[in-house]
Order: sequence, then C-alpha cells, then structure tokens
Amino acid sequence: MVRTRFAPSPTGYLHIGGVRTALFNWLFARKHGGQFILRIDDTDQNRNVEEALQPILDGFRWLGINWDEGPEVDGPHAPYFQSQRTDKYQAAVERMLAGGTAYRDYSRPEEIQAEREAAQAEKRTFVYSRNWMAETDEQASAFEAEGRTAVIRLKMPREGVCLIPDLIRGNVEFEWAHEQDMVIQKADGTCLYHLASVVDDAELEITHVIRAEEHLSNTPRQIFIAQSLGYDLPQYAHLPYVAEPGSRNKLSKRKLSKYLKNQDFKKLYDNGAEIAQLCGWELNEDTFNPVIVDFYRDIGFLPHAIVNYLLLLGWSLDGETEAFTLDEMIESFSLDRVVKSPASFDPTKLTAFQQREMDKLDTKKKTALCVPFLQQAGLLETPPPCETGPYLNEIIEATENRITVAGDILDYDDFFTADNNLRYDSKAFTKRLVQPENALELLAEFRDILAELDNFTTETVEQAMREFVESKEIKFGEIIHPVRVSTTGKPVGFGLFETLAILGQQRCINRINLAITAAHNHTPPTEASEGSSE
Ligand code: GLU
Repeated sequence: MVRTRFAPSPTGYLHIGGVRTALFNWLFARKHGGQFILRIDDTDQNRNVEEALQPILDGFRWLGINWDEGPEVDGPHAPYFQSQRTDKYQAAVERMLAGGTAYRDYSRPEEIQAEREAAQAEKRTFVYSRNWMAETDEQASAFEAEGRTAVIRLKMPREGVCLIPDLIRGNVEFEWAHEQDMVIQKADGTCLYHLASVVDDAELEITHVIRAEEHLSNTPRQIFIAQSLGYDLPQYAHLPYVAEPGSRNKLSKRKLSKYLKNQDFKKLYDNGAEIAQLCGWELNEDTFNPVIVDFYRDIGFLPHAIVNYLLLLGWSLDGETEAFTLDEMIESFSLDRVVKSPASFDPTKLTAFQQREMDKLDTKKKTALCVPFLQQAGLLETPPPCETGPYLNEIIEATENRITVAGDILDYDDFFTADNNLRYDSKAFTKRLVQPENALELLAEFRDILAELDNFTTETVEQAMREFVESKEIKFGEIIHPVRVSTTGKPVGFGLFETLAILGQQRCINRINLAITAAHNHTPPTEASEGSSE
C-alpha cells in the first residue's frame, strides 16, 4: 500500500510551492490506490497552532486535495500533530542512546563556535571533536559537576558514503565525513525536526517521501536515524523548486516587492489589488500575495486552474498536453516525468489556465461566482433582489471572455452604480468630452435621438447611431467615444450598443446629461481612483 505525506509547519498561509509538493504526493497516492496523509510539523511552534493551520487546511479543501488521515479527519495513527507525539520521540532518543548512535553532548555553544572558527581558518570542513561527548554516566556526572547541561547529538559515521536512491534524481551520494553530529534533542527535552520526522514517517508507515529538494541534504542524517532505529527506509523523491519568475531561486513569500518588478507578475498582482481595493480588503503582504493560495481564491480564481497549472510546473506528460481533468492527472502521473530543474512560476501561463477554466463555465455559473464580488464592493444587495438575475446574466453574457477571474466583474461596476455616483476615468473624460470642440453638441443631439426611440434595443440604438453619423457627416469615433465615456465613465468595455441597451434608455439619458453639465465645468462628476488608459 502506497502511503505518502505532506508535512507542513503551521505557518498561517499555504505557499503555492507547498501545494505543488502536496499535489504530487496526493497524485502519486491516488494513482497507486494508496493514501495521502497530512501531518503537522509543529514541534517548533510558539504561535497558536489551530489558527496558523486553518488557512492551510482551508486552502487544500478549496483546491480539492483531500487527505485520508490527518487533522480534522484523524485515522488509525492519530495524533497527527508532532507536538502530541513527543513520547514516541523520547523513546527513540533513548533507543539511540542505548545503541550508541546518539550521545549526550556537554559542550557549550562558544566551544563549538571556537572549533568551527578554527576549521574555517584552516579551510577544512568543520567536524566536531566530540571533546564533551559523554558515553557513560560517569562522564556525564563529571561534566554536570562543571555546571554543564547536555543536548543529544547524532553520532554520525565519519567514513564512507551515504547512497540515496532518489526516484527523481537517481542515485545521490553524500560523504559521511561531511555530515555533522546534528542535535536531535535540546537541553530542555524538545526533540528536533530530523528525529521527529523520521520517527513519524516510520510510525505512519510512509512508503514514499516526496518533498522539496531543500530536504535532500537532510536525507543522509535521516537515513542514519532510520537505520539506527531499525526502520525500513521509505523511497525518496526530491522535487525541484517552484522558482521565482524568470529565475532558478526558490519562490518566496517575502520577496513580493522584488517580484513586482517583473511585468507579468505585476499584472497579476495589480489586477488582484484593484479587486481588493474595490472590495475594501487590506493589501497585507502576509495574506494578499500571489505566492500564497488565498490570493487566488480571494480574487476569484477557479481551483482547477491552479491545480492544473501546478501539475505542469515541474511535470510533463509529453511536453504538449496542457489541459487535464483530475482523473486524467491521476491516471497519467508518474514521478519519472518530474523535471529535474527548477520550474519558474509563470503568472501569464497561470492566468491563461484560469481563462480556459472560466471559458468552460456557462453564464449562470459565472454569474454565481461574480455575485459575491459585487456584494463585497457594495454594488449589490445581499441577497440580490430576484429581478437582478436576468440583468446580471445579460451583463455576464455580453462580457464574453473578458472576465478572467470572478473579481473582474468589478470592471463593470458602471452597471451597478447610481447615475450620480458613476466614476469617470478622468483622462478619458478630458480627451473625449472636454477637449473635442463639438463633442458636447453632438452628444446632446444624439441624446435627443435616443430619447425619441420607442424601442430601446441593441439593434435600434445601433441603427440610430449609423443614421446620425451619416446625416452629420462625421466619423463614428466622434460620437462613439463621447457616448461611451459619458454613459459608462470608461474608455473601453464590451460592445457599446449592447452596453446602452443593457443600461436602458432612462439611465443613458441621465448619464449623458450629467456628463454634459460636468464637462462644461471641465471636471468629471466623480473621478475613478485610477485612470485606465485607452
Ligand atoms: N515540515 C517540513 C517542511 O515543511 C517537512 C519536511 C519533509 O517533508 O520532510 O519543510
């Protein structure tokens, strides 16, 4: 039975690199009819674990990555929190001490530091002298009489090589001589990551440890611990990083300002930030950051777009196929097709995946996704009045494929604001209404024609404008732009005739009147916070 695990520390957020690692573990388990376990590495936890874990669990649930054992579902190996498994680590430490593969070390930090510096000065690898190692109770008492306290260290081999058969990298060798006598238990009795991780992987019967490449260098000491305790070794697979856009460095949540210098990344972020601002959310880097999953959920991505994109960020079936259903992913996933070099995060590609998922949805589903954004921005009542249903559907249909993430509905806020609250793009207002000599005159004349129409539809409005252009011998642009800006506040949008028809006769006329008065005063009635350009 294949058993894989993802072992996050409760950090308060779900990193997309972490999701990629979890996804590969999940797919591998599902493919082999096995189980996927979520274990919480909280040995080193000062903060409130529950609070810091919730965004991680919520993120996985949203993405549809379910776990067979772990927090909230439990299972035969409970508890799944390292902080609740300390008795098992203590027992392991005692077994290692008894077997001579770990020792009590009474050195003081400054003594180790001095040895480290001496090695540095002589340009050799630091290897602890073990001068303060106690292997008998007598030695320990003697050190304690000097007022020293002990930590427990691994007594690592100092000769030969450690061979790691890695399912992605092939055989990787480490020389034991370069490995340190790592501390596995602190003086206060807390057991550290390496020991806890190995004990848990064995106790939870993990068969495949699939994790980020930064843990490859930890593997020799983990193998040493496992062998010392007589455990069967799991199979290892170390995944390359999810790297920064356009680089091989690991993608990091803390480098947001650096990533915003990348045009593609900035575009993704700015779109999100605009949605967030309209919804009144705080733009806090800890919670609103494209390196973490919440960002995508909050601005209206579809979970499958993320999962499908992350699958291809480090794995490929044939270098061509891009769209996978969940079942197809499970069916075709294998570790030998994981790419060996870091795959760099590409916001444009992720957005394209999202667009594809969005385009698959029918109007009703899209509308349902968009409604909460309109509500958050205060543009629609909660619950929406029933008569808005067809109106919303009409708008969504007219947007065609212009809505990439559900929050993009806020680009069409002009359909939901009262006429006297319409926000105008000030640049467009000046360019289309204030500057052209005859714009306001033409606009007033065309308004009168609109007011006369008995039947106000896309077709009749279009017909009216064509006749107007012909009779006035003007270019289309001379009337189309002033009409668009005065009725929507924006220089761009979907088809103008459809726009006018959806807004309806009365609102179009009101808005044109308000814009004409304001343009005489040379200022828009209400300025949009950020001018979009034509
Ligand atoms: N808690 C560790 C981490 O988040 C788990 C490492 C492992 O998979 O062994 O990096």
